[in-house]
Amino acid sequence: MKVAIIGASLGGLFAAYHLARGGVEVEVYERASVPGLPPRTLIVTNKLNEVLGFVPEEAIVNRIRKLEIFSRSKSVRIELSRPDLVIERERLIKLLARLAEEAGARIHLGYQFEGFFRAGKKMVLKLRNLKSGKTFTPLSDILVGADGISSAVSRAISCDGHFPTALLQARVALQGEGASDTCQVWFDPDYTKYFFWSIPECAKLSTVGLIADDDRQARVGLEAFLKERGLKPLEFQGAKVPLYRWSGLRGGESGRRGVFLVGDAAAQVKVTTVGGVVTGLYGARALARAILNGGDYKRELRELKLELNLHLLVRNILNRFRNEDYDELLERFNGTLTGLLQRWNRDELRSFFFKMILTEPHLLRIGLKTLFRSLKEGKVGG
Ligand SMILES: Cc1cc2nc3c(=O)[nH]c(=O)nc-3n(C[C@H](O)[C@H](O)[C@H](O)COP(=O)(O)OP(=O)(O)OC[C@H]3O[C@@H](n4cnc5c(N)ncnc54)[C@H](O)[C@@H]3O)c2cc1C
Repeated sequence: MKVAIIGASLGGLFAAYHLARGGVEVEVYERASVPGLPPRTLIVTNKLNEVLGFVPEEAIVNRIRKLEIFSRSKSVRIELSRPDLVIERERLIKLLARLAEEAGARIHLGYQFEGFFRAGKKMVLKLRNLKSGKTFTPLSDILVGADGISSAVSRAISCDGHFPTALLQARVALQGEGASDTCQVWFDPDYTKYFFWSIPECAKLSTVGLIADDDRQARVGLEAFLKERGLKPLEFQGAKVPLYRWSGLRGGESGRRGVFLVGDAAAQVKVTTVGGVVTGLYGARALARAILNGGDYKRELRELKLELNLHLLVRNILNRFRNEDYDELLERFNGTLTGLLQRWNRDELRSFFFKMILTEPHLLRIGLKTLFRSLKEGKVGG
């Protein structure tokens, strides 16, 4: 069996690694001539280690042991019992590429996927060599789209339904001493319904940024944030990330006649924090397992879908929050919930969400209040 994977980033390379290890012939096609660029600083929970099956030491640039969350007039400080990891994406991609190649996968750089057609049981791929301009038409039994938010594979199977959100961050000199193990988060719905962050990479550098509905809102928000704190940007990092929806991207999960999607191409992104690394890797591993065991990708994704749906429910409520709602929320976080939040892992929302509600039923009241308020104001939908 031959599997062609489009995209040599996190999702594609992790699927390639598992499949090649399982004895499958894997060809990975990537349009960039150097994978992993431009640089991107990422923060993930230590669930990453569990999904990868190892600790990616060479990609970890820092470990976060404390989380400080701010609303307009409240704040909460949480000591994480399992540190979050700050990752340089390029290093993780290089590591996964090496593992995939060692397992037997072949990675072809500078090849752009432009479509495919069927010839009997096989698929004929149309790939353009971006250096020579020539078209190359290899055969494959299975096609995997790991080609991100603008997935050409998802378009080729008429499964293009990505809802983009904009992430923009800037690297800045870190202010204050002893803060290199503390990640800070600010809720300010006047600028964004998501949040701002500061993620220290080391004692001297931090990445500050925000999630916004579009590029303009992201730029305005980040400019205001930097100005207010007197921070000078050293470099900007930004791109679109797809939002997961209730329906998922159905065609890409059912494997429409041998074509599957993983990672951002499948919108496998937690919409509370717009984090797609751990969930995308989970999706890649699920697909590899389904192919290797002759199983069903949809079934392998069941746990992930439950988790993503719960994040979507929480996001739908948070989207309606005002400053005073965040104040009220943080007040509750400071009380009975501190212990739970210390063990908090945002990739395991299912395991602590209901415990949180039981421990602090007032959270339910805050959520319902915001829902009823927006219904009264006529704001329905996500
Ligand atoms: C600024 C920013 C900060 C972020 N921070 C975090 C974070 O802190 N934590 C977190 O969990 N997530 C974060 N994310 C989201 C996370 O980076 C993505 O969810 C994740 O990288 C997606 O990986 P992927 O492999 O699915 O897709 P991508 O990384 O988008 O890779 C797609 C690959 O496919 C290739 N490709 C595309 N089209 C073609 C084609 N036609 N032919 C051949 N190759 C093609 C591309 O060149 C690329 O290499 C952030 C995103 C941004 C933009």
